[in-house]
Amino acid sequence: MKLILRGHHLLCLKGFQGYGYNEDFVKNMTVINDLRKQTDTIIEITDSSDDICASCPNLKNSECENKTQNERIIMMDRQVLKRLGSTEEYNSIELFKKIDEIFDTRESVSKICGNCKWIEQCLFYQKLSNNR
Ligand code: SF4
Repeated sequence: MKLILRGHHLLCLKGFQGYGYNEDFVKNMTVINDLRKQTDTIIEITDSSDDICASCPNLKNSECENKTQNERIIMMDRQVLKRLGSTEEYNSIELFKKIDEIFDTRESVSKICGNCKWIEQCLFYQKLSNNR
C-alpha cells in the first residue's frame, strides 16, 4: 500500500485522536492512521494536497480554498521536508521513526504547529517537552 502525505501531516497523524473537520474527514484520517502503522506501507511525501486532504471539506481544485491558509500549510510542509532532506519515498515505519528523532521538542515544531487550531487536542504536540 502506498500513501501520499504532505509533510506536516506526518506530525498531525502522530497526534491524531479523532478530531477533524467533519465525519468523512475523521473516518478517512482514521484509516490512513491505521495504514501508516503497517510494516509494508510506503509513503511518498509532498507539499501539496494528499490522501488526507482528499476528504477535507475545504479542498477546492486541489488546494485549500482559503488562500492565506493554503500558503501557510505549504510553508508547514516545507519545514518538514527540509528537515527530512529529500522528497523521496519511505517505508512508513522508518519514516515515522525519523520524524520522532527530528521533531522531539516544542522548539523543533514551533514553525509548524505554532498557529494550529488543534494544538490543545494534539497528543503529539502536548507530549513534546518544553525545555529544549
Ligand atoms: S499541533 Fe497541529 S500542526 Fe502540529 S502536529 Fe498537531 S495537529 Fe499537526
